[in-house]
Amino acid sequence: MTRRKFVVGNWKMNGLSGAVGEAQAIFAAADDHAGVDVAICPPFTLIGAMVAAAPGRAIGGQDCHSAESGAFTGSVAAPMLADIGAELVIVGHSERREGFGESDADVRAKAGAGLAAGLSVILCVGEPREVRESGGAIDFVLAQIAGSVPDDFDPQRLAIAYEPIWAIGTGLVPTVADVAAMHGAIRGALAGRFGDAADRMRILYGGSVNGENAAELLGTGDVDGALVGGASLTAAKFVPIIAAGAASG
Ligand code: PEP
Repeated sequence: MTRRKFVVGNWKMNGLSGAVGEAQAIFAAADDHAGVDVAICPPFTLIGAMVAAAPGRAIGGQDCHSAESGAFTGSVAAPMLADIGAELVIVGHSERREGFGESDADVRAKAGAGLAAGLSVILCVGEPREVRESGGAIDFVLAQIAGSVPDDFDPQRLAIAYEPIWAIGTGLVPTVADVAAMHGAIRGALAGRFGDAADRMRILYGGSVNGENAAELLGTGDVDGALVGGASLTAAKFVPIIAAGAASG
């Protein structure tokens, strides 16, 4: 089946209020490229302003707590994201898994919280360099999928992002053959668990995607979009990736 390509910007901890104009420019330029879904996940502090400045656009959080509310100082709950107009949330980014000690069980609970709040979820998986070098990348990622993907959800509302940790922010990118093998293995594991519904789930690639490599990566089998960090911060760098997504759709 044909899945619409999905290109998502993860702004990480970048952007003050002036950056809202850049998001408007990105969404406006995206209108020239039909057939691709575009989302931006800015820091929490910018979501409200971005929703107000770009109504109807897909804007999301980069993380959420698994609880609906409570004594969790500094955390943001999924219903709070929905309440300020976010449509989606990223969970399980490797910077959360590694930097904040999030386990597969934590990620699964966060994904469930996002879905319960009515958000779409982008659930990240990916292996560290030593696992790739030892030949264990596919087993590692499939174990993350088994442990962190919830059991019951609308397949169109949960996307997987395969992001090899060693490719994030480094300029390194796996070979197209390795990306195809990993995405095929992920699709196979999802099909084994969810049957035909796996065909409706999008599997994004993330890790040093840029305007030069996007067409090849997005044209690879079972790659349904891209999760983009550094190159999503400006329209000049992000729009060529969106264009590549549209061209490969
Ligand atoms: C990311 O952090 O999700 C990411 C893919 O970053 P970059 O594109 O900068 O490698």
